[in-house]
Amino acid sequence: MGLVVQKYGGSSVADAEGIKRVAKRIVEAKKNGHQVVVVVSAMGDTTDELIDLAEQVSPMPSGREFDMLLTAGERISMALLAMAIKNLGHSAQSFTGSQAGVITDSVHNKARIIDVTPGRIRIALDEGNIAIVAGFQGVSQDKKDITTLGRGGSDTTAVALAAALDAEVCEIYTDVDGVFTADPRVVKKAKKIDHIAFEDMLELAASGSKVLLHRCVEYARRYNIPIHVRSSFSGLQGTWVSNEPIQQGDKPVEQAIISGVAHDTSEAKVTVVGVPDKPGEAASIFRAIANAEINIDMVVQNVSAASTGLTDISFTLPKTEGRKAIDALEKAKAVIGFDSLRYDDQIGKISLVGAGMKTNPGVTAGFFEALSDAGVNIELISTSEIRISVVTRADDVPEAVRAVHTAFGLDSDSDEAVVYGGTGR
Ligand code: ADP
Ligand code: ASP
Ligand code: MG
Repeated sequence: MGLVVQKYGGSSVADAEGIKRVAKRIVEAKKNGHQVVVVVSAMGDTTDELIDLAEQVSPMPSGREFDMLLTAGERISMALLAMAIKNLGHSAQSFTGSQAGVITDSVHNKARIIDVTPGRIRIALDEGNIAIVAGFQGVSQDKKDITTLGRGGSDTTAVALAAALDAEVCEIYTDVDGVFTADPRVVKKAKKIDHIAFEDMLELAASGSKVLLHRCVEYARRYNIPIHVRSSFSGLQGTWVSNEPIQQGDKPVEQAIISGVAHDTSEAKVTVVGVPDKPGEAASIFRAIANAEINIDMVVQNVSAASTGLTDISFTLPKTEGRKAIDALEKAKAVIGFDSLRYDDQIGKISLVGAGMKTNPGVTAGFFEALSDAGVNIELISTSEIRISVVTRADDVPEAVRAVHTAFGLDSDSDEAVVYGGTGR
């Protein structure tokens, strides 16, 4: 029996009962002969509550002290979980990200893991302990400051530790039974996916399916770590994310044309109005954004009006970066030379994802027809080889997701999609 890494999200450890329930599950894995490393998130909505609190004392909290604050959430759950395990008669030791050897760059609030040196975890395991690690955090290589990995970052901690410890599997325990063809909170008829390739999962995650974080899937693909996404509330098999060919009996199963529908309402749209239509303008706009360390998503430039020689450029970005982006562009206004800026945070993105899209004509047309039948207006469009995304009004998103899900024959016959916990925040 090898080593397993298990990650429990906030909804799985939302209260004392949750912590005790999860402790039993962990002890079961240990009793089955595994060496067990557990990565744990902050309890329930603790991270959101800490953010709210910080905003009450400072309008745009960021940087070192913000990270110090947020990492406290995971420290609470790691200690309580270790105590609950000890109470069941098994030995457990908890470790902060820094103690577990999660080394990051020094970009506060969205640091990247650059190395994992889990010496203390190995010792704890060799001594017969269950090791509990606080997710979502690390220590910067240069300044030795505490960093966080961005929202949902405990998924990445889990996969990074699984890679560094050469684990058999990384199990991600959450409040749904696996990865579904759409968010079960929105589509009751969503179907559980038994197996999904890294490529498809990457696109779903990047398009807003927060059941797995994009960076965690990227990491798992690079180190070829199979991920098993499952519920901590049921005993069911979940979804396997790996590169293994999908088998049914001894026959490989043909790849699904469509893996699922993802949605995202965490982004906003910035429109730069009246940009001179000449070379170098887009470059200076996006240089200003990049210098502010902001990642953007979609970009659309309209055709310039011949009479004015001016054009508009729109792009989407996380709402949390909106203020920073507007400030950066205002500062560079004289150099770029645009008329005005518009900011819209009432948008949503809907994406259809599937590797089979490459070879099946008509997917794009079917997607647009479904949206049109649902009366949904499209504001921006972007595509990759295996994904098509549109931006719509945020209010239209749930209806649009359901319409697309039905149109592509993804609805299950039963209402099998159970949501066991969490507030969906
Ligand atoms: P955790 O607290 O365990 O990290 P998250 O809230 O981050 O949980 O992720 C689980 C949630 O992801 C589910 O409750 C569900 O609402 C959402 N979700 C979005 N898209 C999907 C999908 N395609 N399949 C399953 N869950 C999804
Ligand atoms: N607690 C952090 C968050 O809410 C990290 C995580 O849960 O993965 O984003
Ligand atoms: Mg999560």
